[in-house]
Amino acid sequence: MNTQHGPSPDSQTLPSGRDLALAWHLRLPDSLETAFSEQFRESCARLIPGATAMMMVIYLVAFLVEHLVDPATTAQAWRPRLLAMMVTGGVFFLARKREPVYARLLQPAVAAMALTMAGTSIYLGVKIDHPLASVYFYICFLAILMLGSLFRIQLYWALPTSLCILGALAVALFGLSDFSFAEALVIWSFTLSGTVMSLFGQYFFERLERRLFLSDRVLNLHRSELRAANLSLESQATEDGLTGTVNRRGLDQRLDSLLHKMQHQARGAPDSIAVLLFDIDYFKPFNDTYGHQAGDECLKQIADVPKTMVQRATDFVARYGGEEFVVVLGGTRLRDALVFAERMRARVERLGIPHSGSRIGVVTISVGVACTSAGATSSEHLIKLADQALYEAKGAARNCVSCVEDDGSIRIMTS
Ligand code: GH3
Ligand code: MG
Ligand code: MG
Repeated sequence: MNTQHGPSPDSQTLPSGRDLALAWHLRLPDSLETAFSEQFRESCARLIPGATAMMMVIYLVAFLVEHLVDPATTAQAWRPRLLAMMVTGGVFFLARKREPVYARLLQPAVAAMALTMAGTSIYLGVKIDHPLASVYFYICFLAILMLGSLFRIQLYWALPTSLCILGALAVALFGLSDFSFAEALVIWSFTLSGTVMSLFGQYFFERLERRLFLSDRVLNLHRSELRAANLSLESQATEDGLTGTVNRRGLDQRLDSLLHKMQHQARGAPDSIAVLLFDIDYFKPFNDTYGHQAGDECLKQIADVPKTMVQRATDFVARYGGEEFVVVLGGTRLRDALVFAERMRARVERLGIPHSGSRIGVVTISVGVACTSAGATSSEHLIKLADQALYEAKGAARNCVSCVEDDGSIRIMTS
């Protein structure tokens, strides 16, 4: 993180790759370690069926070679070989199970397989009396190499397994076999150096894997923060700050999109759209009497009325401007829209916001309703029709609902 110019607000909340630097022992914080192990296990599970199948082939070839070299050897070797093959087959079947409970057993199973492979080879190396018997001991090195390269199990499993194999090999070479000390030392140091190289390579491979995992995490974190910021910006750009309703820009976008869907009969599109335009009655005198702040408070309370009434995802309330609001109801015909409008008008009246300049002593609204069934093809046209109806409602003593009928005539509803 750049501290020279002071951290930016973003860099305080978002970690960078460096904040999640890896320690030498590779261990991550617990929650990340679990997630990494899961990801690593998955990649192992993808490798193991192929790798075990290949091992089976190698066992079969070894059988054949042993038989060609000396049939007497096969007679002694088949039992330990069969055991190793059975364990390998077990790992193969385990890797094909997709349940997490089996996946967790996979790494110890591979470690057990390597131990079996090394153990049976050490046994054969000690037991078989043949000039080429020392070859069996080299299989220990192959078993160790296999852990980190062929099966890619985690270092935490590979390291102790390798040390066990090296220990068992030391006991067999220096204590149980007929080799001279020098011969035993050559075989053991060959295996040791191979093991060191293999584990060294595996350490760096796993370090790289863990770094990739961390970068991925950081990238995802940044991405989701960015997405959240975008969403919030988007909603800020289409939301009215005072009332929390959709603003004029959002109204145009959403109503246009709804109309477009309806006209193109998109899947799930409404078959008709109703627009309710309402305006607070005598709001100028309200402001003059009670002040602008009380006016703002009144606007919020009134906007909350239709906001609590709309239910469907296509429905929304927008501030058209000043103290005029639009309610858009998707999939609603004129008759139902009128019921909604009348209920909304009555609820506003029941709020009982005192208004000395109003005829009935409380704040009221007038509503103009228009539906696409009246022939409106654009949002401007639809709102214009609703505005005509609203104009008539205002002329008819206010606090009432008026609508444009399908034939274009205007009807005033009496409550
Ligand atoms: P009418 O019954 O015919 O609608 O009469 P009216 O007094 O309400 O007239 P009009 O609709 O023209 O009034 C608009 C008033 O709304 C003017 C302005 O003072 C007030 N207004 C518009 N926006 C706001 C606002 O954001 N806050 C406040 N407090 N008042 C606003
Ligand atoms: Mg007005
Ligand atoms: Mg008004």
